[in-house]
Amino acid sequence: MIISLKKGTKRREISEVVRKVEEEGLKSEVKAGKTKSIIHVIGDTAKKSEEPYYAFNCVEGVLRVTPRKYRRVSKNNQDDKYLVKVDNFYVGSGKLTLMIGPCALEGEEQIKDSVGLINKIKRTYVDNKPRSNIAGIVMRGGAFKPRTDPNSFQGMKKEGLKYFADMAHSYGIPIVTEVMDTRDVGLVATYADILQIGTRNAQNFNLIEEAGKTGKPVLLKRGMGNSLNEFLGAANYIAKSGNENIILCLRGVKGMQDEVYRFNPDLVDAIELSQRVRTPIAFDPSHSGGDKKYVSDLGRLAVMAGVDALLADVHPYPEIALVDPKQQLTPQMGRKFTKEMNFYKGAYLKGQKQFNKL
Ligand code: PEP
Ligand code: MN
Repeated sequence: MIISLKKGTKRREISEVVRKVEEEGLKSEVKAGKTKSIIHVIGDTAKKSEEPYYAFNCVEGVLRVTPRKYRRVSKNNQDDKYLVKVDNFYVGSGKLTLMIGPCALEGEEQIKDSVGLINKIKRTYVDNKPRSNIAGIVMRGGAFKPRTDPNSFQGMKKEGLKYFADMAHSYGIPIVTEVMDTRDVGLVATYADILQIGTRNAQNFNLIEEAGKTGKPVLLKRGMGNSLNEFLGAANYIAKSGNENIILCLRGVKGMQDEVYRFNPDLVDAIELSQRVRTPIAFDPSHSGGDKKYVSDLGRLAVMAGVDALLADVHPYPEIALVDPKQQLTPQMGRKFTKEMNFYKGAYLKGQKQFNKL
């Protein structure tokens, strides 16, 4: 680990940092330059955090030399952030990305109506709003659906995906859609702007690696029973294939609240992840909450936890949706949700700007 010090750092200040290094059980070597100095931290720093050093005013940055376990997705320093380019905007740029649309693609009519709805929302809250806090809208919609019951609707597959992509792209809307099988990775990558790996495949490493190899952005959902380390391990499979375009999506984990949320909203993990990883972080209030009545509140909490993106189900007529009817927002709720999230992201950014100065 190398600690670089600001120009004009006093000897006394250097000694304070050195003392901290020693307190951590490590050794140090100070290298004084003409204008700037560095402290070389020696020892097993793999499990040590660089955070304590940022508490010193004289510290400019901390660079890791020792590889860490999840080094490919881990932050190298506090400001290390990888932005994922989608269409003409970046996920993780500070503004919010919304990924909205129906849970599943159900038929040509439903796809047409869904694209029309998302296009209107995009025009109102992003395209015609120069000071929007929403960086961009990606449309979601599953063609390949992982269903618990093999007898329930399994998705429109290739036919639906092609129709969806053509229709959304004709309006200039990028799409995110799930890929469930290594055999379909090529096909899905041809049409989708972001490949989604669902919670049920969150440790299907062959699939994850294949998706990574396409070079396309990958939205990796957390396994519903996975720890954060397992989640990061899976993300590292994407990075290992040479693809850094990773978006980590929290979507709730199995808990003891079946009667309330569908999955326990793992929002506190958004805070932990944002301190640990450099990739953008998303949250899915629809699949976590499992009910449209929770979506806006959970979305607000996620924005306040600092997430870069939200993934939410919005359907033109949820009352007759073939998949997850209870949790999909109506068109009116979808518009309100977008308006609200734009507002809360604005409040979050304003607060950050104001209090970072203190
Ligand atoms: C989805 O987003 O359509 C989905 C099935 O989500 P999850 O994998 O989180 O259940
Ligand atoms: Mn769903």
